[in-house]
Amino acid sequence: TFHQKPAKQDDEFASVPAVEIDLADAYQVNLAPGTYRDETGRPWILPSFRLAAERLIVDKGYNHEYLSLLGSPNFLRAARDLVLGSAADERRVASLQTVGGTGAVHMGALLLKLFSSRPSTVYISDPTWVNHHDVFIHAGWKTQSYRYYNPVSRSLDFDSLTQDVRSAPAKSIFVLHAVGHNPTGCDPSSEQWQALAQLFEENDHFAFFDCAYQGFVSGSFEQDRRAIELFASRGISMCIAQSLSKNAGMYGERLGALHVLCGSAKSTQLVKQQLKVLTRREISCAPKYGADLVSVVCSDHDLRDMWEKDLRHISFRITSMRQALVDRLNKLGTPGDWSHIIRQQGMFAYSGLTPEQCNALVDDFHIYVPRTGRMMMAGLNDQNLDYVAEAIHHVVVR
Ligand code: PMP
Repeated sequence: TFHQKPAKQDDEFASVPAVEIDLADAYQVNLAPGTYRDETGRPWILPSFRLAAERLIVDKGYNHEYLSLLGSPNFLRAARDLVLGSAADERRVASLQTVGGTGAVHMGALLLKLFSSRPSTVYISDPTWVNHHDVFIHAGWKTQSYRYYNPVSRSLDFDSLTQDVRSAPAKSIFVLHAVGHNPTGCDPSSEQWQALAQLFEENDHFAFFDCAYQGFVSGSFEQDRRAIELFASRGISMCIAQSLSKNAGMYGERLGALHVLCGSAKSTQLVKQQLKVLTRREISCAPKYGADLVSVVCSDHDLRDMWEKDLRHISFRITSMRQALVDRLNKLGTPGDWSHIIRQQGMFAYSGLTPEQCNALVDDFHIYVPRTGRMMMAGLNDQNLDYVAEAIHHVVVR
């Protein structure tokens, strides 16, 4: 009898039948994550940071020692200058390097919980970054939403926002997205920030700024920190949870800082001491590599300019993708007004698609969007724009 030789192990799948791949399977578009993608759909190493990495390792004889408890002093100075501009007074700002923006929110929440006597509820915009409520609750706070977004006009609901700021108990803590609101892409205008600052002063509220997308909206650090500078210049009690994960394009290096504005040089020292104790208990010290790269970039005039040029590229690309998507939807005659996608700004568009329409995009077209309809605009590129627009058209008219 004839025995067939068993297939070699690495040949195991050789006889799996081929299948026809239809269009939907050939395309996958991921618009879900909060991480920038370049024109080819890949993560982007910013040219400024690529150069800085070469210099750091080759020229500066890099090592992997621990940082001190508060973090790298050069990084903290650079981060403070970026986010506070004219208000970056070292004697009045206690800064701590953190594990990303998430760590900054956490450490700020913890510090306030332990040492402030403000009301026990923290107010957070509705909607907001998915992690905000959890991080504050984890630090012992109660949280409540304040109204922020009008789903009908698909824009900021400023009247409701100000009503909620007014009706909260005096001295309440409000989390404010400094720029590029996640997920709605709707920020207050300069006049609206002025009005909000006025209300914060009148009610002695505390502004807990979350600044995760500085540079993504205008391409300029200066313009994107205006709300923070304004509040600081008016002496409003505040802290800033700063993420540099996004604007330095180093998500995995966990780059962030907490800056607490203090009333005097003495209280700055006291807050710093407490931050040292807290960080020692939590993580000992923050990660070094990304922080050192930021220091290299910010200590060199050309690299610093190049970084802003990189950010202008990012914000320009996002803005062009907004326009290109809306142009395509209009051309297809997709029912509805899509102009909010152009008016919204930063990394995200709050598309207004229903949960069912989002599910259909995922199931039928492999276009990944959360059920909230938030779309990460840098997930779009010239290769997938037509496909995405046609898919949206399809799920809207079906
Ligand atoms: N705050 C907001 C508003 C964010 O969108 C994010 C990231 N998605 C963070 C904080 C956390 O930033 P990081 O990745 O640096 O921890």
